Amino acid sequence: MRKPIIAGNWKMHKTLGEAELFYADVQGRIPDPAQVETVICAPFPFLFRLVQLSEGKAPSVGAQNMHEEESGAFTGEVSPTQLKDLGVGYVIIGHSERREYFNETDESVNRKIKSALGHGLTPIVCVGETLEEREDSRTEAKVSGQVKAAYSGIPAKEAERTVVAYEPIWAIGTGKTATSEEAGEVCRSIRKTLEELYGTEAAGRIRIQYGGSVKPDNIAELLAQPDIDGALVGGASLDPESFLRLAEAAVHE
Ligand code: PGA
Repeated sequence: MRKPIIAGNWKMHKTLGEAELFYADVQGRIPDPAQVETVICAPFPFLFRLVQLSEGKAPSVGAQNMHEEESGAFTGEVSPTQLKDLGVGYVIIGHSERREYFNETDESVNRKIKSALGHGLTPIVCVGETLEEREDSRTEAKVSGQVKAAYSGIPAKEAERTVVAYEPIWAIGTGKTATSEEAGEVCRSIRKTLEELYGTEAAGRIRIQYGGSVKPDNIAELLAQPDIDGALVGGASLDPESFLRLAEAAVHE
Protein backbone atom coordinates (compact mmCIF):
# COMPACT_ATOMS: atom_id res chain seq x y z
CA MET A 1 0.00 0.00 0.00
CA ARG A 2 1.30 3.43 -0.94
CA LYS A 3 0.76 6.06 1.73
CA PRO A 4 -1.00 9.13 0.30
CA ILE A 5 1.03 12.32 0.19
CA ILE A 6 -0.50 15.80 0.10
CA ALA A 7 1.96 18.58 -0.61
CA GLY A 8 1.22 22.28 -0.61
CA ASN A 9 3.19 24.42 -3.06
CA TRP A 10 2.98 27.95 -1.73
CA LYS A 11 4.95 29.38 -4.68
CA MET A 12 5.85 33.06 -4.04
CA HIS A 13 3.02 33.72 -1.60
CA LYS A 14 2.71 34.81 2.05
CA THR A 15 4.81 36.83 4.47
CA LEU A 16 6.66 35.16 7.33
CA GLY A 17 3.92 36.26 9.74
CA GLU A 18 1.26 34.66 7.55
CA ALA A 19 3.28 31.47 7.25
CA GLU A 20 3.63 31.30 11.05
CA LEU A 21 -0.11 31.79 11.47
CA PHE A 22 -0.80 28.96 9.05
CA TYR A 23 1.41 26.61 11.04
CA ALA A 24 -0.14 27.66 14.34
CA ASP A 25 -3.55 26.99 12.83
CA VAL A 26 -2.94 23.51 11.46
CA GLN A 27 -0.74 22.23 14.26
CA GLY A 28 -2.22 19.31 16.11
CA ARG A 29 -5.09 19.12 13.61
CA ILE A 30 -3.32 17.35 10.76
CA PRO A 31 -4.54 13.76 10.35
CA ASP A 32 -2.40 10.88 11.59
CA PRO A 33 0.96 10.88 9.75
CA ALA A 34 0.73 7.09 9.71
CA GLN A 35 -2.19 7.49 7.30
CA VAL A 36 -1.22 10.50 5.23
CA GLU A 37 2.06 12.32 4.67
CA THR A 38 1.67 16.11 4.55
CA VAL A 39 4.23 18.64 3.38
CA ILE A 40 4.29 22.41 2.91
CA CYS A 41 6.75 23.59 0.25
CA ALA A 42 7.36 27.17 1.32
CA PRO A 43 9.53 30.03 0.01
CA PHE A 44 13.19 29.76 1.10
CA PRO A 45 13.15 32.62 3.66
CA PHE A 46 10.48 30.81 5.74
CA LEU A 47 12.01 27.34 5.81
CA PHE A 48 14.15 27.72 8.94
CA ARG A 49 11.27 29.12 10.98
CA LEU A 50 8.74 26.58 9.73
CA VAL A 51 11.03 23.66 10.58
CA GLN A 52 11.35 25.13 14.09
CA LEU A 53 7.58 25.50 14.41
CA SER A 54 6.81 22.04 13.10
CA GLU A 55 8.95 20.41 15.83
CA GLY A 56 9.30 17.32 13.69
CA LYS A 57 5.53 16.90 13.43
CA ALA A 58 3.24 17.14 10.43
CA PRO A 59 3.10 18.94 8.12
CA SER A 60 6.73 18.45 7.11
CA VAL A 61 8.62 21.24 5.41
CA GLY A 62 9.79 21.23 1.80
CA ALA A 63 11.51 23.62 -0.61
CA GLN A 64 10.30 24.54 -4.08
CA ASN A 65 13.64 24.23 -5.83
CA MET A 66 17.35 23.78 -5.16
CA HIS A 67 20.71 23.96 -6.92
CA GLU A 68 22.37 20.64 -7.59
CA GLU A 69 25.80 21.60 -6.22
CA GLU A 70 26.64 21.46 -2.50
CA SER A 71 28.21 24.92 -2.47
CA GLY A 72 29.95 27.34 -4.78
CA ALA A 73 29.77 30.61 -6.67
CA PHE A 74 26.08 30.42 -7.64
CA THR A 75 24.65 33.77 -6.59
CA GLY A 76 21.05 33.57 -5.45
CA GLU A 77 20.90 29.78 -5.29
CA VAL A 78 20.29 27.39 -2.38
CA SER A 79 22.04 24.03 -2.06
CA PRO A 80 20.79 20.61 -0.93
CA THR A 81 23.31 20.71 1.93
CA GLN A 82 21.79 23.95 3.16
CA LEU A 83 18.26 22.55 2.95
CA LYS A 84 19.23 19.38 4.78
CA ASP A 85 21.05 21.39 7.45
CA LEU A 86 17.83 23.29 8.19
CA GLY A 87 15.85 20.09 8.60
CA VAL A 88 13.97 20.36 5.32
CA GLY A 89 12.85 16.93 4.09
CA TYR A 90 11.38 17.48 0.62
CA VAL A 91 12.08 19.50 -2.50
CA ILE A 92 9.98 20.10 -5.60
CA ILE A 93 12.10 19.53 -8.72
CA GLY A 94 11.26 20.66 -12.24
CA HIS A 95 7.97 22.43 -11.59
CA SER A 96 6.57 23.62 -14.93
CA GLU A 97 6.97 27.25 -13.80
CA ARG A 98 10.69 26.61 -13.27
CA ARG A 99 10.96 24.88 -16.61
CA GLU A 100 9.13 27.73 -18.34
CA TYR A 101 10.53 30.84 -16.61
CA PHE A 102 13.91 29.68 -15.30
CA ASN A 103 15.21 27.50 -18.12
CA GLU A 104 15.11 24.20 -16.27
CA THR A 105 15.63 21.32 -18.64
CA ASP A 106 15.18 17.55 -18.44
CA GLU A 107 18.95 17.35 -17.89
CA SER A 108 19.04 19.83 -15.01
CA VAL A 109 16.01 18.11 -13.49
CA ASN A 110 17.85 14.77 -13.65
CA ARG A 111 20.95 16.24 -11.98
CA LYS A 112 18.88 17.87 -9.26
CA ILE A 113 16.98 14.66 -8.47
CA LYS A 114 20.26 12.75 -8.11
CA SER A 115 21.65 15.47 -5.89
CA ALA A 116 18.50 15.64 -3.72
CA LEU A 117 18.54 11.86 -3.26
CA GLY A 118 22.25 11.94 -2.48
CA HIS A 119 21.52 14.39 0.34
CA GLY A 120 18.61 12.45 1.79
CA LEU A 121 15.93 14.82 0.51
CA THR A 122 12.71 13.48 -1.04
CA PRO A 123 12.34 14.96 -4.52
CA ILE A 124 8.84 15.68 -5.82
CA VAL A 125 9.46 15.37 -9.54
CA CYS A 126 7.07 17.38 -11.74
CA VAL A 127 6.04 16.38 -15.25
CA GLY A 128 3.17 17.47 -17.46
CA GLU A 129 2.03 18.48 -20.92
CA THR A 130 0.93 21.80 -22.42
CA LEU A 131 -2.56 22.32 -23.80
CA GLU A 132 -1.18 22.16 -27.32
CA GLU A 133 0.47 18.82 -26.65
CA ARG A 134 -2.74 17.45 -25.16
CA GLU A 135 -4.77 18.60 -28.15
CA ASP A 136 -2.24 16.94 -30.45
CA SER A 137 -2.58 13.65 -28.52
CA ARG A 138 1.03 13.94 -27.43
CA THR A 139 0.39 13.81 -23.67
CA GLU A 140 1.66 10.32 -22.98
CA ALA A 141 4.72 10.68 -25.21
CA LYS A 142 5.66 13.98 -23.57
CA VAL A 143 5.16 12.77 -20.02
CA SER A 144 6.85 9.43 -20.55
CA GLY A 145 9.83 11.22 -22.16
CA GLN A 146 10.07 13.55 -19.16
CA VAL A 147 9.94 10.62 -16.72
CA LYS A 148 12.63 8.68 -18.59
CA ALA A 149 14.91 11.73 -18.73
CA ALA A 150 14.29 12.60 -15.07
CA TYR A 151 15.15 9.09 -13.84
CA SER A 152 18.08 8.45 -16.17
CA GLY A 153 20.88 6.74 -14.24
CA ILE A 154 18.87 6.53 -11.01
CA PRO A 155 18.69 3.00 -9.58
CA ALA A 156 15.38 1.45 -8.44
CA LYS A 157 16.15 1.62 -4.71
CA GLU A 158 16.70 5.38 -5.03
CA ALA A 159 13.75 5.94 -7.36
CA GLU A 160 11.47 4.39 -4.75
CA ARG A 161 12.22 7.33 -2.47
CA THR A 162 10.95 9.86 -4.99
CA VAL A 163 7.46 11.16 -5.64
CA VAL A 164 6.24 11.99 -9.15
CA ALA A 165 3.79 14.87 -9.58
CA TYR A 166 1.77 14.79 -12.78
CA GLU A 167 0.70 18.38 -13.43
CA PRO A 168 -0.90 19.18 -16.79
CA ILE A 169 0.34 22.72 -17.41
CA TRP A 170 -3.05 23.89 -18.68
CA ALA A 171 -4.64 22.93 -15.36
CA ILE A 172 -2.26 24.85 -13.08
CA GLY A 173 -3.82 27.88 -11.46
CA THR A 174 -6.50 28.03 -14.15
CA GLY A 175 -9.39 26.44 -12.30
CA LYS A 176 -9.44 23.79 -15.03
CA THR A 177 -8.80 20.34 -13.64
CA ALA A 178 -8.21 17.30 -15.74
CA THR A 179 -11.19 15.01 -15.16
CA SER A 180 -10.32 12.34 -12.65
CA GLU A 181 -10.39 9.77 -15.49
CA GLU A 182 -7.99 11.84 -17.64
CA ALA A 183 -5.65 12.37 -14.69
CA GLY A 184 -5.89 8.71 -13.69
CA GLU A 185 -5.07 7.59 -17.20
CA VAL A 186 -1.91 9.67 -17.44
CA CYS A 187 -0.82 8.56 -13.96
CA ARG A 188 -1.36 4.96 -15.08
CA SER A 189 0.88 5.62 -18.08
CA ILE A 190 3.52 7.16 -15.79
CA ARG A 191 3.43 4.00 -13.69
CA LYS A 192 3.87 1.94 -16.87
CA THR A 193 6.95 3.97 -17.79
CA LEU A 194 8.30 3.43 -14.27
CA GLU A 195 7.59 -0.30 -14.67
CA GLU A 196 9.63 -0.33 -17.87
CA LEU A 197 12.48 1.35 -16.01
CA TYR A 198 12.32 -0.47 -12.69
CA GLY A 199 9.98 -3.47 -12.90
CA THR A 200 6.51 -3.83 -11.41
CA GLU A 201 7.48 -4.11 -7.77
CA ALA A 202 9.65 -1.03 -7.50
CA ALA A 203 7.32 0.99 -9.74
CA GLY A 204 4.45 -0.06 -7.48
CA ARG A 205 6.16 1.60 -4.54
CA ILE A 206 6.66 5.02 -6.18
CA ARG A 207 3.95 7.50 -5.31
CA ILE A 208 2.35 9.58 -8.04
CA GLN A 209 0.54 12.81 -7.25
CA TYR A 210 -1.84 14.76 -9.42
CA GLY A 211 -1.57 18.55 -9.44
CA GLY A 212 -3.48 21.36 -11.16
CA SER A 213 -6.42 23.17 -9.56
CA VAL A 214 -6.92 20.51 -6.88
CA LYS A 215 -9.48 21.71 -4.32
CA PRO A 216 -11.16 20.18 -1.27
CA ASP A 217 -14.23 19.42 -3.38
CA ASN A 218 -12.50 17.59 -6.23
CA ILE A 219 -9.71 15.78 -4.41
CA ALA A 220 -11.73 12.71 -3.41
CA GLU A 221 -12.55 11.67 -6.97
CA LEU A 222 -8.95 12.22 -8.05
CA LEU A 223 -7.61 10.10 -5.19
CA ALA A 224 -10.13 7.39 -6.04
CA GLN A 225 -8.10 6.69 -9.19
CA PRO A 226 -5.89 3.65 -8.51
CA ASP A 227 -2.65 5.27 -9.70
CA ILE A 228 -3.13 8.65 -7.99
CA ASP A 229 -1.52 8.58 -4.55
CA GLY A 230 -1.81 12.18 -3.52
CA ALA A 231 -1.84 15.76 -4.71
CA LEU A 232 0.50 18.70 -5.24
CA VAL A 233 -1.63 21.73 -4.49
CA GLY A 234 -0.97 25.41 -5.13
CA GLY A 235 -3.83 27.85 -4.49
CA ALA A 236 -5.89 25.58 -2.23
CA SER A 237 -2.92 24.92 0.08
CA LEU A 238 -2.64 28.54 1.20
CA ASP A 239 -5.62 28.48 3.54
CA PRO A 240 -5.25 26.30 6.65
CA GLU A 241 -8.84 25.01 6.63
CA SER A 242 -8.61 24.10 2.98
CA PHE A 243 -5.26 22.33 3.50
CA LEU A 244 -6.71 20.36 6.41
CA ARG A 245 -9.67 19.29 4.28
CA LEU A 246 -7.31 18.09 1.55
CA ALA A 247 -5.32 16.04 4.08
CA GLU A 248 -8.49 14.59 5.59
CA ALA A 249 -9.78 13.58 2.18
CA ALA A 250 -6.60 11.56 1.67
CA VAL A 251 -7.22 9.61 4.89
CA HIS A 252 -10.69 8.63 3.77
CA GLU A 253 -9.52 7.31 0.43
P1 PGA B 1 -2.70 25.04 -8.45
O1 PGA B 1 -1.11 24.82 -8.58
O2 PGA B 1 -3.19 24.02 -7.44
O3 PGA B 1 -2.84 26.45 -7.95
O4 PGA B 1 -3.27 24.81 -9.79
C1 PGA B 1 -0.54 23.53 -8.59
C2 PGA B 1 0.95 23.59 -8.76
O5 PGA B 1 1.43 24.43 -9.56
O6 PGA B 1 1.70 22.83 -8.13
